[in-house]
Amino acid sequence: METVLNEETFDVVIVGAGPVGLLTANYLGAQGLRVLVLERMRELIDYPRGVGMDDECLRSFQAVGLAREVLPHTTPQHHLRFVTGKGRTLAALEPGTDEFGWSRRNGFIQPLVDRVLFEGLARYAGVSVRFGHEVEEVAQDGDGVTITARADDARHRFSARYAVGCDGGRSALRKALDIPFEGETEPNRWIVVDLNNDPLATPHAWVYCNHARPYVSIALPHGVRRLEFMLHDKEAEGDTVPEPILRSMLAEAGCDLDRVDIIRARVYTHSGRLAARFRDKRILLAGDAAHIMPVWQGQGYNSGIRDATNLSWKLALVLKGIAKDRLLDSYEEERREHARAMIGLSVMAGKVLSITNPVGAALRDAFFLMLNVIPPVKRYIVGMRFKPMPRYRHGALAYPHGVDANSPVGTMFIQPPVQRAPGHEPVRLDEVLGDSFAILCWGIDPSYWMSEQTRALWKQLDTRLISVWPDTQLGYQLARDGPDVQPIADVSGRLKAWFDRHGRGVVFLRPDRFVAALCGPQQIDATTQALRTALHLQSGDRP
Ligand SMILES: Cc1cc2nc3c(=O)[nH]c(=O)nc-3n(C[C@H](O)[C@H](O)[C@H](O)COP(=O)(O)OP(=O)(O)OC[C@H]3O[C@@H](n4cnc5c(N)ncnc54)[C@H](O)[C@@H]3O)c2cc1C
Repeated sequence: METVLNEETFDVVIVGAGPVGLLTANYLGAQGLRVLVLERMRELIDYPRGVGMDDECLRSFQAVGLAREVLPHTTPQHHLRFVTGKGRTLAALEPGTDEFGWSRRNGFIQPLVDRVLFEGLARYAGVSVRFGHEVEEVAQDGDGVTITARADDARHRFSARYAVGCDGGRSALRKALDIPFEGETEPNRWIVVDLNNDPLATPHAWVYCNHARPYVSIALPHGVRRLEFMLHDKEAEGDTVPEPILRSMLAEAGCDLDRVDIIRARVYTHSGRLAARFRDKRILLAGDAAHIMPVWQGQGYNSGIRDATNLSWKLALVLKGIAKDRLLDSYEEERREHARAMIGLSVMAGKVLSITNPVGAALRDAFFLMLNVIPPVKRYIVGMRFKPMPRYRHGALAYPHGVDANSPVGTMFIQPPVQRAPGHEPVRLDEVLGDSFAILCWGIDPSYWMSEQTRALWKQLDTRLISVWPDTQLGYQLARDGPDVQPIADVSGRLKAWFDRHGRGVVFLRPDRFVAALCGPQQIDATTQALRTALHLQSGDRP
């Protein structure tokens, strides 16, 4: 019988060192937890994959202190234009917004950013990554999870209180748990060609909705060009296409096969699939293990980053004994519906852009060209307002005034620039929020309205109390506010506009920057109690 070596114990075992596993490990490492990442490959995946990063994602990298290291591998304000076979613009996605503190659409090089996330783990003594460890078995009971991995010829066993399956679309954990992966695989195959020394040297991303052969051309950082061509039946030969076909496709995109510097050319199929459950007791699924989607909205990568951001703070609260295990149910409750909406949008976009029937393509073109002359519709498309923004109606939130479609509760809070002291350079809001909860108030000291019990509860959660003032008043307030409250100046006026729009001056922010609750000063105690219930906080000495 084969020997199983040395059982080691961790708080969390993460399976997979892709971006989702690595980000989760950064979040948990920052909380001082003991984390093991198991990766079956001998090194990080080094070929280009995801190319589109959104503003929410950059905000997550900011939260783990790595935005500055990630930025050199991004192109901000990266526009996406859909054009007809004749070059007429069907739709242009050019959102100029920076409401969350970062450019909404960014081109990026995934392996370089994955490496930043990996190197970021060196900051945490409690986190280790073991390459060359392929997870083969998983078992769980009421106390924890046991994972067995093969490394070379030996099998190693690890135990943890929780495990997170970030092991990609073919997730071994999802299969071991027998969780269905529901959805469809598109019939069309595509070849993805990445080139160094960009032979086109134009900015932005273009989708050519040419019915004879739709293709995509994307300028990426560091002179990389991504081309994706739809393949017709029988054109693919395994993972590649015959040279004459590749030559003619590249020529269509303006590139000469004899001169280009190919990094990788590989055939892919696109699928839209969603795991039936994101949680099975002590095992959670995140990233591609929980959902995969066609690339047309560039949201596969970003959706996984959202999972890591949503899950990590909840796991940390449970592992530290502050919240009950039930808090983890809110992970699936909050994330699954949004992932489903992103899959729907991505599948629909793929169907529209890859129409090969000339009549269908002409009708599509006529329809979108007509929409383009209706200014509100054009603004809707250009501003990407169709992108489903996460909006949680149930989960780790409190709606003291009832669930209300117009309430900002369950949405991501804005991130405008703020000032800490007169004359100081403005900083992004999250830099003053810290990495736990924050209570932000317009023009008051929130502690005045808090009972002792409320104050103690937020203190145990390391909550920052922040009062927001017009910049004219900051110096006066700094001299006056209590030691527990940090006054900041709203230098752009966006916070004032936000509180004005929502009609209440106290906002409770979760560590993932989502609005947990909103109330007036006199309801702070009652809202705190509602949140204590929604967050499943432990009673007793703990809050
Ligand atoms: C060609 C292509 C283009 C793409 N373009 C985009 C885009 O433009 N925008 C976008 O948002 N997304 C895009 N994506 C998707 C994006 O790359 C993925 O969504 C993202 O990498 C998912 O991250 P992840 O960490 O969940 O999984 P992965 O990055 O797949 O990482 C999973 C890791 O788990 C490891 N693993 C698997 N099984 C085991 C096991 N049993 N034991 C141990 N380790 C294991 C794997 O080796 C891997 O390192 C693209 C993907 C491809 C392939």
